[in-house]
Formats: sequence, structure tokens, C-alpha cells
Amino acid sequence: MSPVVVAAGGRFFCQCRSMTTKIMARGATLDSALRKFRSICGEDGVSVGAAVREQHGKDESVHRCRPPDVVVFPRCVEEVSALAKVCHSQRLPIIPFGTGTGLEGGVGAVKGGVCFSLRNMDQILDLHQEDFDVTVEPGVTRKTLNAYLRDTGLWFPVDPGADASLCGMAACSASGTNAVRYGTMRENVINLEVILADGTIIHTAGQARRARKTSAGYNLTNLFVGSEGTLGIITKATLRLYAVPEATLSAVCSFPTVQAAVDSTVHILQAGVDVARIEFLDDVMMDACNRFSSLSYPVTPTLFLEFHGSERSLLEQVKTAEELTRMNGGSDFQWASDAEKRNRLWKARHDAWYAAQALRPGCKAYSTDVCVPISQLPQLIVETKADLIENKLTGPIAGHVGDGNFHCLMVLDATHPEEVHQVHLFCQRLARRALAMNGTCTGEHGVGLGKRALLCEEMGAASIQAMQHIKDALDPKNIMNPGKVLLPRES
Ligand SMILES: Cc1cc2nc3c(=O)[nH]c(=O)nc-3n(C[C@H](O)[C@H](O)[C@H](O)COP(=O)(O)OP(=O)(O)OC[C@H]3O[C@@H](n4cnc5c(N)ncnc54)[C@H](O)[C@@H]3O)c2cc1C
Repeated sequence: MSPVVVAAGGRFFCQCRSMTTKIMARGATLDSALRKFRSICGEDGVSVGAAVREQHGKDESVHRCRPPDVVVFPRCVEEVSALAKVCHSQRLPIIPFGTGTGLEGGVGAVKGGVCFSLRNMDQILDLHQEDFDVTVEPGVTRKTLNAYLRDTGLWFPVDPGADASLCGMAACSASGTNAVRYGTMRENVINLEVILADGTIIHTAGQARRARKTSAGYNLTNLFVGSEGTLGIITKATLRLYAVPEATLSAVCSFPTVQAAVDSTVHILQAGVDVARIEFLDDVMMDACNRFSSLSYPVTPTLFLEFHGSERSLLEQVKTAEELTRMNGGSDFQWASDAEKRNRLWKARHDAWYAAQALRPGCKAYSTDVCVPISQLPQLIVETKADLIENKLTGPIAGHVGDGNFHCLMVLDATHPEEVHQVHLFCQRLARRALAMNGTCTGEHGVGLGKRALLCEEMGAASIQAMQHIKDALDPKNIMNPGKVLLPRES
């Protein structure tokens, strides 16, 4: 039914007519763009199929908007640049897509437009073993890279759990379980190749530069790390690599309270113990894990630890950690060095996402994250648990406690609008509590669609304005992933 026919005359008619004109103009723009896209990356490299658009218009979050109008699959940087030039000349939004594991709605097409799926650019380039670096294209995932590195004695440690694309991880400033020792994407990206909104190709540290450190000019690399596709499309990332540790040792320990678990974490870090992972699971999460994996851990706050180093140093480290946990009331300290037993100890942590989901069969897990100075963590977790109970929400807690970062794995019926709304309100309260404790509304998942208003509260008006100036300078037509990170300006 045409809206023009519905109401003749009056304001509604005018609005509908102008809307129809806009839609027709947009259709003509898209048709002409599609012809150009096909001439750049071939018939197979362009899809307008509903299923393909649907699949590329959503991530693992509960944030939903519309799918893109078209998905393109470029094969090389020249194609990405040529496609971007077409979008730029026709003012079509560009939404970069890695593997779609994001958790804040980053790939939704708020204004429709063109999704750039980068999966066909999947080459691992320029491995420099002696320099501990490698350059990857945007279709390479972290597991693929680590499988490729297996025989070199090197590895890339940033591990967000999901098998995300490394350039998507750079775009989100991702981290995960190993960050306490190896840092986040911010500390591990050396250089990026980026296509700007108008198709210009830049290298954030200069072409082919791989120096471990630099004080040359503005830090463009870290401007693009965490920019969530709103400033450009990352088409290459040069990453730091690390030596695979000589030995690895894992441990699990239960605590009477959250405070005792966090105090142990602080004492372990203060003692200079080289802990590579230190993960916290609350009692609800432990209960879920026990049920899901038929385990029998005590249903109390629990720490999962991993130590990397030489055989000798590890035994000393574990001894120190065990003593410190005991001093804080920890019990059932179990440790293991052989791979099979280690994996068994860590099983609960690795399966946390699925265990949480199994608490309510047929429901979806949605993970929200905050990060605070570590001394604030116990109070924040205690207040969060009280909020969950008061509002009858299911949200087991798992956290990268060594960084003061934790996730609430909200288990919800995403088809139930009132429940989705309640979870949304809870996530906002959680983020505001973190802000009140001098923390951040997101330690690693990013802002996307879900946390734009919270970002304003976190940064303040002047800093948001500075961000907006940067966005305007690099993307004056606002075509790069519009509607993400920064709230739309009032017209
Ligand atoms: C079970 C599970 C557990 C998770 N645990 C963690 C965790 O512990 N820590 C953590 O940090 N994250 C975690 N995540 C979130 C997710 O894996 C990360 O956010 C990851 O960085 C997203 O990468 P992706 O390739 O899937 O990006 P996508 O979801 O495809 O995209 C995410 C955002 O990045 C942009 N983008 C993607 N690729 C590019 C590119 N080449 N150039 C420019 N912009 C781009 C997109 O436009 C979008 O805004 C988890 C996710 C799941 C499903």
C-alpha cells in the first residue's frame, strides 16, 4: 500500500509524499551503487539476499535495528577502498563486519546502507618471528592465528572467549582472560591499515612500520583501536606476539565472600606473582557450572588462576598464591600442571556462557561489562547481586578480576519486551554504579548502540565534543557506522 494513496491533502500527505520520494531516490542510488559494487568485486562479492542481510545485521547482543541494504565481500584493500569511494560519493552508510560476536549492537545498520563483510580477506602476512610480530588481514580470527603459530613457539594472547576476528577485536578494544598479564588490544596493536570514509588508505604508524615503541606524532593507532568502525575500516593489523610459556599451571580456590576473593587477587598482584589469568565466578555462576558440567565445586565465590613461566618459578608462584588465598580464608585450593587436568580445572570457566544459558532453557544470554578500580570491586559486586535479587533477574557474574572488570551474564527471554526492558534498566544501573566508583561503563565490549548515553555521562560534554570533532574531521558525511558510539546530534 502506498502511503501517498492513504491520505490526500494536508500535512500527512506532504510527509508521505516526501518520504516516498526519499525512498525512491534511495532505491535509485542503491541500484546505481549495486552496479558499481558488482564491477568492483564481481557478482559473488555482492549480496542483497534477505538471509545474508539479516545475518550481517545483528551480533550476539539483544540490540536490534534494521539489516543493511546490501552486503559486500571485498577480497583486497584496493576493493575496500574502491567500494568506500562509491559509498562516499552516494552518501551510503558503511558498516564493517568481522565475525559478528560483538555484544553491544555494533553491526546493526541503524540507517541501512552497506555492510562490508571482511571474511574473504583472510591472509596471515609478514610473520617476523625474531621481532615477535605479525600482520593479519581482517578475516583472520584469533584461533586461526594461534593455530598458524603453533610450531613457531609464539602466540597471540588476547582472548575474548569468542573466536572473533583480530581486526574486529582491535575495533572494539577487546581483551579477556589474559589481559592482566599481556594487556588488551590497545597494548598489542603496533600498526593498522585503515580505509577512511572517502576511500583513502592510511597506515596509523606509517607504512610497514613495526617498531615496538614510538613517540612519533599523534597516536593514530590507538585512535582507531576502540573506534568500532565509526572512523574507518581496518584492513590490516600488525600485532605483538609472545613466546609460548615454558610451563603453565592452573589452580582453583573457593572463598567465603566476594571480598575475600578480591583481597586475595590484590595480594597476589601486590606480591608480584606472575599470574596470567585470574578469573572470578560468583556463587550463582558456580552453581550453574556445576549443573551444566556435572562438577562438584563448592557453591561460593571462586577464583580460577593460571600461571605462566619456567617450571621452577611456577612452583614458587603457586606456593605464594596458595598462602595468600589461605590468609584470606580461601579453601579447596587445587592445582594442576598437566594439560588434561588443567583443562578439567578450567572447564567451569570456559563453559560459563553455556552454563548461564542453561539456567533458563530457550532463553538467551547477554553479557554486559563494567570495569572499576580493583579496590571498588567487592562493593560493586555486592550491590549488583542485591539489585539482581530485588528485581528477580537471572545474572550470574564472571569477571576478569585482576583488571577490576566483570560481566553479568543476563539470561533473558529476548522475545519478551518487558523483560528486555528490565534487563536494559539493570545494565544502566550497573554502569552508573561503576561510574560513581570512578570506573567505566565498559571495560572491553565497547559502546555500540547500547551504551551511547552512558558514554556521555562517563566522558562529560567537553570530551564528547572533542570526540565529535575527530569524527567530523575524518568522516564529515557521517557514513562510517552511523549511530554508533556517539549519540546522533539533535537537528
Ligand atoms: C561468548 C562470548 C564471550 C565474549 N567474551 C568477551 C571477553 O571476554 N572480552 C571481550 O573483549 N569481548 C568478549 N566478547 C565480545 C566479542 O568477541 C568482541 O567484542 C570482539 O572484539 C568482536 O569482534 P568481531 O570480529 O566479532 O566484531 P563484530 O561483532 O563483527 O563487530 C564489532 C564492532 O567492530 C566493528 N568492526 C568489525 N570489524 C572491523 C574492521 N575490520 N574495521 C573496523 N571496524 C570493524 C563493527 O562495525 C562493530 O562496530 C565475547 C563475545 C561472546 C559471544
